[in-house]
Amino acid sequence: MGERTLRGARLGGQSFEDERGIEFAARQQVGYACPQGHEFEITMSVEAEVPATWECPRCGAAGLSTSGLVPEVKNEKPARTHWDMLLERRSIKELEDILSERLELLRGGEIGPAHLHRTRKSKAKAKKTA
Ligand SMILES: [Zn+2]
Repeated sequence: MGERTLRGARLGGQSFEDERGIEFAARQQVGYACPQGHEFEITMSVEAEVPATWECPRCGAAGLSTSGLVPEVKNEKPARTHWDMLLERRSIKELEDILSERLELLRGGEIGPAHLHRTRKSKAKAKKTA
């Protein structure tokens, strides 16, 4: 009884294997070289999307593909900074105007911390020279 069950399972397994065995995926060797000069090859399916970099098995650094693949540009694109976003809304000239306006208010004691406030006297002086 037990043997029969086992055999049945094995046969099932074999037929499954036979089915899969026919479809050998084509392979390719992809070469990489890391910054330390280690060169290594990774076996991949030809259908796989070959990555431009692969971790070096010897030192763990990122190896670059020796077939001339370049890492995707989007990965290297720096994140948009607040400054970038600001420049999309305002020109440098506008920003300068806003800055001097705010400085005027700051020095006049209307905004900002007290230690940055100028005395009335020097504010008047600054206005005269401007
Ligand atoms: Zn290495």
